[in-house]
Amino acid sequence: MPAAGKCLCGRIQYTLEQQGPGLDVCHCKNCQRQSGAAFVPFLATPLAALQVAGSPKTFMDDETESGKTVARHFCGDCGSHLYVTVEAAPNTAYVAVGTLDDTHDLRPECHGWTASKQEWIQILDSATQHEFEPHLQPESTVTG
Ligand SMILES: [Zn+2]
Ligand SMILES: [Zn+2]
Repeated sequence: MPAAGKCLCGRIQYTLEQQGPGLDVCHCKNCQRQSGAAFVPFLATPLAALQVAGSPKTFMDDETESGKTVARHFCGDCGSHLYVTVEAAPNTAYVAVGTLDDTHDLRPECHGWTASKQEWIQILDSATQHEFEPHLQPESTVTG
């Protein structure tokens, strides 16, 4: 069943194929800076199954801690951080979960880059934690 989401102003709307409840929570400084939040939970979906209506802007973030370029797609009108794509997993989109309509089934599966986690955040769930890159294999995870 497809899940749906949109940016704050509603000019960009999307649907995606939800593969499961697991979120990849990113504590890297660049995600903090782009979102203005302490961390960003992402839901991985096959890029081909993400249907976007509207025209997100894209920032090619090539000053990442991993050294890999992250394409950050956002609404140019309201600034919502919508999804990212990464070089290492070109067929996967990571959707910023705050923009999804329904999030009640979702749970953290993995926390990445906890070395740059904000001090006051205490991770109380049982998801795996990685101080640096989470070593995800998103393509195989997503496609089964
Ligand atoms: Zn918008
Ligand atoms: Zn990040």
